[in-house]
Amino acid sequence: MNPEAQQDVSVSQGVRMMFYMMKPNETSFQTLEEVPDYVKQATPFFISLMLLELVVSWILKGKAPGRLDDALTSISAGILSRLPSLFSRSIELTTYIYIWENYRLIILPWDSPWTWYLTFLGVDFGYYWFHRMAHEVNIMWAGHQTHHSSEDYNLSTALRQSVFQIYTSWIFYSPLALFIPPSVYAVHLQFNLLYQFWIHTEIINNLGPLELILNTPSHHRVHHGRNRYCIDKNYAGVLIIWDRIFGTFEAENEKVVYGLTHPINTFEPFMVQCHHLVYIWTTFWATPGFFNKFSVLFKGPGWSPGKPRLGLSEEIPEVTGKEVPFSSSVSHLLRIYAVVQFALMLAFYEETFADKAALSQVTLLLRVCFIILTLTSIGFLLDQRPKAAVLETFRCLVFLMLCRFGHLKPFTPSLSFAFEIFYSICIAFWGVRSIKQLASGPWK
Ligand SMILES: [Zn+2]
Ligand SMILES: [Zn+2]
Repeated sequence: MNPEAQQDVSVSQGVRMMFYMMKPNETSFQTLEEVPDYVKQATPFFISLMLLELVVSWILKGKAPGRLDDALTSISAGILSRLPSLFSRSIELTTYIYIWENYRLIILPWDSPWTWYLTFLGVDFGYYWFHRMAHEVNIMWAGHQTHHSSEDYNLSTALRQSVFQIYTSWIFYSPLALFIPPSVYAVHLQFNLLYQFWIHTEIINNLGPLELILNTPSHHRVHHGRNRYCIDKNYAGVLIIWDRIFGTFEAENEKVVYGLTHPINTFEPFMVQCHHLVYIWTTFWATPGFFNKFSVLFKGPGWSPGKPRLGLSEEIPEVTGKEVPFSSSVSHLLRIYAVVQFALMLAFYEETFADKAALSQVTLLLRVCFIILTLTSIGFLLDQRPKAAVLETFRCLVFLMLCRFGHLKPFTPSLSFAFEIFYSICIAFWGVRSIKQLASGPWK
């Protein structure tokens, strides 16, 4: 995958790539450098489909498909998970290329449709086992749980991705490197991920015979459920056949309640990414004996001494259907403020990816820090954390400094003055709140 590859997808290709409906002859490349960054090019399609879901949900159900605070947190996680790719090739590709260059057994032709279809199956099979292990091995679950932490189920949930998951997923794809060229693998790795976007919705019910073969919204809703019948079911990426073959399939029946069995109740992006790592750390040291400590890491998240490998299903809290999702109680005005700041950050994020090659490493690093700071601050505001005002004042100051020293450019020079005024007002507003808060205890 090469962000600099200039093969922009057409609108027709863009729509089709979201559903894995690409043809081998339009997506086969000889070298890795020629492979487009399809995931990057998918951003307008992510946004368009999310808006379409919003409109259809209003028409069909008279309500939005989810909540703003939850959706912002999901998109935050998606942004965080993509930031490392600004600095280096993903570990999923680096390890694959290493194995291909040193240990390949045969070379399948990169331009054969057979190679293309075999890779489609191989990547999807690798994904099934990666995903299953990500639920059954505690240290892998520490990464993957991020994706399950949303208590809503809509297209934004698909973007709630883990920063850490790629550090284990590469293992499951590496056998393919013995015979499939990296350029073919890089195409399917992206399409497999993109396919999984549209299945995160409640507005599509049942797709008839397609439900037999494909992973569908209905099957994946079960996967996101915390009802007992949903736990450790439907690990498929694109083809549901793997679950049917390996005994992990479950059809949707009673109403699904979404999220983790023990909700994390926060919108703060670092907690969304890291809370289970913290939990493992404390459990690891609190559990006596070497083998037990080993089991804390490599057995299921529900395991503890004396229990079966995947824990006891009766310990999973029963759902009543009356669960109230965690939500922010901030005012409408503060929500609008959060959306405006989020949208501005998103524009800088997109611009940073687009200009990546022209930016110095220092500018790149400072911009990434600013993006992380913005996501954290918005999380603090939504969570109504005691230090939210202080952090937001600091963030606005950082923005002005980055503009002043040329590390951030407010889109066009004519906007510079408007941005300076806007952020100065923000600093004054949050600064006053910070002083009040520091003087009188936690901010409400
Ligand atoms: Zn999962
Ligand atoms: Zn999902």
